[in-house]
Amino acid sequence: MTISRTEKVVRVAVPIPAYRCFDYLPPSGVGLSDLLPGLRLRVPFGNRTRVGYLIAVAETPECDVARLRPAEAVLDDKPLLSETDVKLLQWAARYYHHPLGEVFQLAFPVHLREGRSAEVTRPQGLTLTPAGAALDPPVLKRAPAQRMLLETLRGAEYPFPASRLAETGSSARAAQDAARRLVERGWAEWVDLPDGRIPAAIRPPLPLNVAQRAAVDAVSAHLGRYGAFLLEGVTGSGKTEVYLEVIRRVVARGEQALVLVPEISLTPQLEQRLRERIEAPLAVFHSGLNETERTAAWLGFQQGDIRVLLGTRSAVFVPMRRPGIIILDEEHDRSFKQQEGFRFSARDVAVMRARMADIPLVAGSATPSLESIRNVQRGRYVRLSLPARAGVAVEPRYRLLDIRSRRLQEGLSEALIAAIRETLAEGGQVLLFLNRRGFAPALICHGCGWVAQCRRCDANLVLHAREARLRCHHCAAEHGLPPRCPSCGQEDLRPLGIGTERVDQALQRLFPEIGVARIDRDSTRGRHSLARILERVHQGEVRILLGTQMLAKGHHFPGVTLVGILDVDAGFYSTDFRAAEHTAQLIVQVAGRAGRGEKPGTVLLQTRHPDHPLLQRLLRDGYPGFAAAELAEREAACLPPFGYQALWRAESKDLGRAMDFLARLREEAEGKNGAVHWLGPAPAPMPRQAGRYRAQLWLKSARREALHASLTDALARLQETPERRVRWSLDVDPVDF
Ligand code: ADP
Ligand code: ZN
Ligand code: ZN
Repeated sequence: MTISRTEKVVRVAVPIPAYRCFDYLPPSGVGLSDLLPGLRLRVPFGNRTRVGYLIAVAETPECDVARLRPAEAVLDDKPLLSETDVKLLQWAARYYHHPLGEVFQLAFPVHLREGRSAEVTRPQGLTLTPAGAALDPPVLKRAPAQRMLLETLRGAEYPFPASRLAETGSSARAAQDAARRLVERGWAEWVDLPDGRIPAAIRPPLPLNVAQRAAVDAVSAHLGRYGAFLLEGVTGSGKTEVYLEVIRRVVARGEQALVLVPEISLTPQLEQRLRERIEAPLAVFHSGLNETERTAAWLGFQQGDIRVLLGTRSAVFVPMRRPGIIILDEEHDRSFKQQEGFRFSARDVAVMRARMADIPLVAGSATPSLESIRNVQRGRYVRLSLPARAGVAVEPRYRLLDIRSRRLQEGLSEALIAAIRETLAEGGQVLLFLNRRGFAPALICHGCGWVAQCRRCDANLVLHAREARLRCHHCAAEHGLPPRCPSCGQEDLRPLGIGTERVDQALQRLFPEIGVARIDRDSTRGRHSLARILERVHQGEVRILLGTQMLAKGHHFPGVTLVGILDVDAGFYSTDFRAAEHTAQLIVQVAGRAGRGEKPGTVLLQTRHPDHPLLQRLLRDGYPGFAAAELAEREAACLPPFGYQALWRAESKDLGRAMDFLARLREEAEGKNGAVHWLGPAPAPMPRQAGRYRAQLWLKSARREALHASLTDALARLQETPERRVRWSLDVDPVDF
């Protein structure tokens, strides 16, 4: 096909691993003015077709016009992405150096990626027609199923959800038949449920305290324009009440609110509070939903019917028809950073999105990330603080338990056991925190010192005693228990170290009359098991609660008056420069679970390093004091948030090959850009995982642009001469390594 040089082309993001877009001729029969950015197109690619995303109509093609092919079809009447959405995705692809088409694709739910139509199939509900409402039930004497359904509909304040029909009849089938008959006879009709659920009863807002009011006023003054706010307040200080009031105002203006939480497990309680307070359609969006539900929520928000969307990190890309506000709860949480594939930070994308859409963003936390604290110092964020706890609860008291040369029973010191006993005698609940699941982190031979290790990872196998299994926590490897030492043949194999399962057993032995519950990934595997355990805690059936970091997140335990942290040291001695920050956040977050009722809480921390300066600082000056000290150290070392980082990762069956690949990257780039410092290549902290070797190469710079220029450069070379033997990835602003 030949075209004239002046003919226009459509620029399309095609979901393949390429760092650019592709040009096509406009599809036949479609006017240029109808080709708007954000439309989905079907385009030929290689010898198949793909769903691509229109970026722009361009004057001049980037490649040889003679080779251009026409796009096959436009899939949407109207673009699903606004121009701002398109810009945001382009920015994200550029900033994280991820292939453009893949970024666009990841912003869509699977059904839309596949090219299915963007029609919302909204959940249906059954409601009575006026004729049905006026009907005399005895008319249905001989149709008991219809009569029963009619009675149910009369009693229902809202359309009755189709999904609950089965509850009304003797069987699902009978209920469906009855519904069909009622509709045929003109007594009932199907209507769309706005958001698939009956609205909950609306509660009036609480009278806000002075600090809450100031926070709400500050954010409200920014509705309709960009502003970033860091809402700082301990657990229970009333941050959620601030979100709720701000959202209420946003919704009253006819706008939408996007609310992000770091984990699925935090959605139910926030969803409940939103539904009680906000009189507008709401949907949740996370990976726990099926694709139909995800698509419905995505389209509902995109079209503006859903006014409040509550979701995890992927929700940050869901288009909004009338953007009003973005709220990010627990902003310090590392789960906001995606750890594979497109490694974006939902927090940072949210800030950019708010800025592009010209709306406020509120990021809340009891323990803000050092990045956000730094942004406050630089005047980029406005700090709003809620100093006192709302209601009557008071701050917990901290105490260090020096366990050097003390006898421990399965990780519990005598002082801690005594405190547990006392708390139980006073009728309180106890929360114990140990960030290590399983029975023991290792199995060792008492005869020769052999330790059970994963064959495919540089890691010890973890003993899970109840199931009599050895498991690797880094790959899927799992083994039965060896009857004797494979090295010396002796039968004296012993657990080494302490995991939650072991402490659980000890607690049951020490407190046989008391209900103990364990919350970790092993004990909460079933779909509702976490909810069930939490229920037993709230009912007071469980008096000792033991768990991993799952416990540190969001849950409220008003009856807990004693918190014990079994091992605070692990985090303060680590190669990860963020470990201290993370540990301090964990301690404060776990402590925040205590004393939410009227009783004050006590927090006991077991340590072998009671003089550690950061620990001392945390206990003396609280999290803000700790953060100030830690920021000073980061500044001295030119670490984030004072410098910028990126991490190249490479993995291969052969460590040398991965190292060579990274060494070459460094060689080709070094010297070109004096503002960038290189560290490595070096084997990853755990070099071998699942049978593959991993190496990494750090890039550091005081100047973000310099760092990014270097990455762009390296990626261009990799596109030219692709590396086939090593699997590599790039992580911008890495948080975990
Ligand atoms: P956070 O989100 O900071 O943990 P919440 O908003 O959940 O705090 O508030 C903690 C508790 O205090 C909740 O039970 C909430 O209903 C109550 N609360 C919050 N603000 C007020 C207020 N102004 N007056 C009375 N109770 C409040
Ligand atoms: Zn042995
Ligand atoms: Zn393994």
